[in-house]
Amino acid sequence: MIIAIDGPAASGKGTLGKRIAAHYGLRHLDTGLIYRTVAKVLLDAGHSPGDAAAAVAAAKSLDPSRFDEVALKSHAVGEAASVVSAIPELRAALVAFQRDFAIKPPGAVLDGRDIGTVICPDADVKIFVTAAPDVRARRRAAEYRAQGKQIDEATVLADILKRDERDQNRFAAPLKQAQDAYLLDTTHLDIDAAIWAAIDIVEATRAGRGRD
Ligand code: C5P
Repeated sequence: MIIAIDGPAASGKGTLGKRIAAHYGLRHLDTGLIYRTVAKVLLDAGHSPGDAAAAVAAAKSLDPSRFDEVALKSHAVGEAASVVSAIPELRAALVAFQRDFAIKPPGAVLDGRDIGTVICPDADVKIFVTAAPDVRARRRAAEYRAQGKQIDEATVLADILKRDERDQNRFAAPLKQAQDAYLLDTTHLDIDAAIWAAIDIVEATRAGRGRD
């Protein structure tokens, strides 16, 4: 089974992806980490995040063992990832990696921006998870505080809105809900309620299609 979870910044799709994967015994790939890894390689080497040739070179020598790096979660890397991810050649260079991950048994949960639309258009289940921007900003600011970082909510909100705008309006694989994706709005749900709502979607979809 392949489950595609897409949504805007700080919508909770990463946590959701991880927990849904654990629930169904599937592998999990947070595809944002791929773009963050490429962005960090570029920043570390002193390249601009808009440097297409350097980005493609970084993608070709992608090292998944770097996906665990805490530094990937920094604000600066997230910002650079949002720029780097608009490069069409980079996105093209990363398609095979993501699809290979998805199809390996027993299947996988992938979360990102274009999983249901571009990477796995035939996914068994597609969920588009979102929440009101101020709620997303509050959750992300709380995460930063838990890591000992002091960033005020207004700054986080401005950053989220900028990233949404960039992700939705880019030419290559813009963030959008796939036609056959279920919308899961978590504005008024805590994480446990969101997970159960997502499991309900998976179960209903499987029952509807008659799949095991
Ligand atoms: O999800 P996360 O915030 O970690 O993603 C970092 C950036 O990578 C996003 O702002 C987005 O621009 C980009 N991204 C993407 N396509 C994906 C996953 C992430 O363009 N599938």
